[in-house]
Amino acid sequence: MYRDLKLYIDGEWIEGSDTIDVINPAIGESLGKLPLATPAELDLALQSASTAFATWRTVSPVERGRVLRRAADLIRERVDRIASLLTLEQGKVLAEARSEVLASAEIFDWFAEECRRSYGRVIPSRDARTRQFVVLEPVGPVAAFSPWNFPAVAPARKVAAALAAGCSCILKPSEETPATALELALALEDAGLPKGTLNVVFGVPDIVSRHLIASEIIRKVSFTGSVGIGKHLARLAADGLKRVTLELGGHAPVVVCADADVEQAARLTAAAKFRNAGQVCISPSRFFVHQDVQERFLDAFVGAARDLKTGDGMAGDSTMGPVANERRLSAMNTFLEDAVEKGGILQCGGQHTGNRGFFFEPTVISDVPGDALIMNNEPFGPIAPVAPFADLDELLSRANGLKYGLAAYVFTQSTASATRLSNGIEAGMIGVNHLAISHAETPFGGVRDSGMGHEGGIEGLEAYMQRKFISQI
Ligand code: NAD
Repeated sequence: MYRDLKLYIDGEWIEGSDTIDVINPAIGESLGKLPLATPAELDLALQSASTAFATWRTVSPVERGRVLRRAADLIRERVDRIASLLTLEQGKVLAEARSEVLASAEIFDWFAEECRRSYGRVIPSRDARTRQFVVLEPVGPVAAFSPWNFPAVAPARKVAAALAAGCSCILKPSEETPATALELALALEDAGLPKGTLNVVFGVPDIVSRHLIASEIIRKVSFTGSVGIGKHLARLAADGLKRVTLELGGHAPVVVCADADVEQAARLTAAAKFRNAGQVCISPSRFFVHQDVQERFLDAFVGAARDLKTGDGMAGDSTMGPVANERRLSAMNTFLEDAVEKGGILQCGGQHTGNRGFFFEPTVISDVPGDALIMNNEPFGPIAPVAPFADLDELLSRANGLKYGLAAYVFTQSTASATRLSNGIEAGMIGVNHLAISHAETPFGGVRDSGMGHEGGIEGLEAYMQRKFISQI
């Protein structure tokens, strides 16, 4: 059911010599062998991206859009197959994998349309004989690094925007979830993308990123992943003054005020919290619930967590899959032990289940103190820490007390509290009374340690373009 894994360089599908295993997280066994690029193959990808850029940048936005739209159609036609590959290698349940694949097609559609509108401007001149223009141009070949938690959407956001802008791209998807990204590359190839415009490589991440970012050919770096690696790549990019977009995860506070629709807040946030077993950078992950409604919130939230059925994502009745790898499993055990040791009360879950694979029950811990590890580090897994608050001033300083600033969620029926909290919380995206904050057409990005720049929206295209001022007499 899995696919052959290859490198995709200069329009060729290459076997490679050194390989590593890709593991199915529901079973803990190998799905296939992934080839790792040699330095010579990385150089080939760089040359190919450089040559292809010279042509692709001259292709009109209308034609670039046609290719991207065809790719989107092919992704939709192939959704069942791609979703199965995604679930096999990443673990999320098939229904989620399908929505993710369809969302990636929508991202290609959005950028296919938006690139026609990469308008510059005309600036009135001081001299009647002179015309002054600002035009937008593609920034150049891109090195893009995407993570394992969204094997379709994360590469799509980078690749669709880069190609729409007229850039060529070398994508290094996560070595843990390679097949989905290769399917996107295949859809683009079948849609008529010229060879070398997109290359897909795998390898030892540190070796690949150093090699690509050091090259004169690369003009832009885009990374989604952990804060530490993001900062490391930003330092590498600074040497060549290369543009950088970083999407580095967060630790989203959820504020449930006393006047909120508490049961609705619990139902919506539980669905979002346990989506993809909590491995979502905008996952609601620090729950601050007003002390007067904490009991009601916990009843509904714990009930929703208990209703989930953890199991192999390929099985039709599973509603939450395994975590993606052994590292996440051991992180969950550490977070749980630490929180309970510091006074947190385990409300449900807390066990690694099954005799194979990386399953961890949907877990809720209440009364978690502020110094618990899980209140300070992104959980990236199915544990929800809940803590009471008494007033909004105190709450705001706790919500803003970490260096993260990606997403935040507020539940209240008071316009005054909604305004105060959405103004006061330091985050790149805020959902008030709902959690739908990520669409193809809306800017996605964080502040502080959560990153810089945006993906999605008109900002997502601009990230791959640079301005040129032309004064003509
Ligand atoms: P990690 O830091 O080892 O890797 C994170 C991602 O970066 C992976 O996709 C990995 O392939 C890539 N990577 C690692 N080193 C790299 C390098 N030198 N050059 C280029 N890419 C590199 O962490 P992990 O164990 O895979 O994930 C753990 C943490 O990472 C999570 O707790 C979460 O905080 C963060 N994370 C965030 C996102 C996100 O959507 N922002 C996605 C995945 C992981």
